[in-house]
Amino acid sequence: MSATEQLSIRVEPTQQSRLSQVDFNNLTFGQIMSDHMLVAEYNDGEWTDVSILPYGDLTVSPSMSALHYGQAIFEGVKGYKFADGTVSIFRPEKNWERFNKSASRLQMPEVPEEIFLGGLKKLLDVDRNWVPSKEGTSLYIRPFMFATEAALGVHPSISYKFIIITCPVGAYYSKPISLKVETHYTRAAEGGVGFSKNAGNYALSLYPTQLANDAGYDQIMWTDAKEHRYIEEAGTANLIFRIGDSIITPHGDTILHGVTRRTIMELAEKWGYKAEQRKVSVQELIEGIENGTVSEAFAAGTAATITHISSIGFEGNDYHLPPVEGREFANKVLSYLNALRYGEIEDPFGWNY
Ligand code: PMP
Repeated sequence: MSATEQLSIRVEPTQQSRLSQVDFNNLTFGQIMSDHMLVAEYNDGEWTDVSILPYGDLTVSPSMSALHYGQAIFEGVKGYKFADGTVSIFRPEKNWERFNKSASRLQMPEVPEEIFLGGLKKLLDVDRNWVPSKEGTSLYIRPFMFATEAALGVHPSISYKFIIITCPVGAYYSKPISLKVETHYTRAAEGGVGFSKNAGNYALSLYPTQLANDAGYDQIMWTDAKEHRYIEEAGTANLIFRIGDSIITPHGDTILHGVTRRTIMELAEKWGYKAEQRKVSVQELIEGIENGTVSEAFAAGTAATITHISSIGFEGNDYHLPPVEGREFANKVLSYLNALRYGEIEDPFGWNY
């Protein structure tokens, strides 16, 4: 018997499913949650009370420490339905590993495999009918954890809640986006928490992103905190460039190490491209766009898989990338991953869970 089978997870089914009220042809991201949620409590150094409950409000104390001192982390994963009805989750063990890295950095307890992955499996069993089946649709899965100690004072909380909620999402197509190279604000510094998926990293991005939007750009291209010279990531996605015949992605602990980024770099290597994780300076990128060596640039993340970049704004100038149709690598990745995740082709890597 595997570890995931040993854990007892109590299931309290909803008395009133909302499934029949959902218009699956008209889904707005993040608005409609599935019937159930998985909830686990951490107290006195132990995870207890792992339950699947009807989705609903929580009661919290006004002194709950997550609200004051920000011990709050999350993940984003997607589940897909194959034509034969099989429900598959894409590489969730990588999200579990990243979740626990985030937890350690924020002095929060790690969540064991049987709760994170075992709980996810059981939750999707219960809410299997919430996984949409139309082309391009998926079930977005949001595991998260926050500090629940009801006391003021800066110290690691003694209690936590781990929860998984899910929501059906429609086919996501993103038009190519423009990015503004950010040369004043900073997302993450060396020694900071850039690699962790904690709530604060998103709060701090809102104001600079609004300024970029006001200036006419879709998103920010973050650069290093020290010199604003090296490229880091964009919005809620990692950046990948094709420079000559190399597929290159920025590297280091100031960026979130995306599961999509990792997947694409593994594919690049497998397909015979030179796949490199290294520093990319703004100057290298701009010069490469100007002299034609940068032929592809895209953002990679769970939400859209690949979002092509149309232009990059730096110091008042916009640099335009070649048309999307000719971007051989990114387009090949997108069609391959779509086919793989919907079970249309064999899965040689074991990425479908
Ligand atoms: N960077 C940031 C800041 C993100 O929020 C995300 C989305 N999780 C990513 C990169 C891409 O990560 P993933 O491919 O795991 O979705």
